[in-house]
Amino acid sequence: MRAKGRNFQASREERCSLCRGELYPGDPYFQLEGRAVCEDCLGRYARRYFAAQLRRVRGGGIRGVDTV
Ligand SMILES: [Zn+2]
Repeated sequence: MRAKGRNFQASREERCSLCRGELYPGDPYFQLEGRAVCEDCLGRYARRYFAAQLRRVRGGGIRGVDTV
């Protein structure tokens, strides 16, 4: 017989897909794109997810302002 039972993917929803931390009944988590992300990792996940949208507030030390 080959690997019977223990499907590795079986309980993936009970585990944070980022930190692999186990999620217990009652624990809050976010279901993002089919993956479970615990609260602690949400910030990290969001930051990576929205990395392309990251902007910095202009101002401060601007000298040579480009003319559009
Ligand atoms: Zn996590």
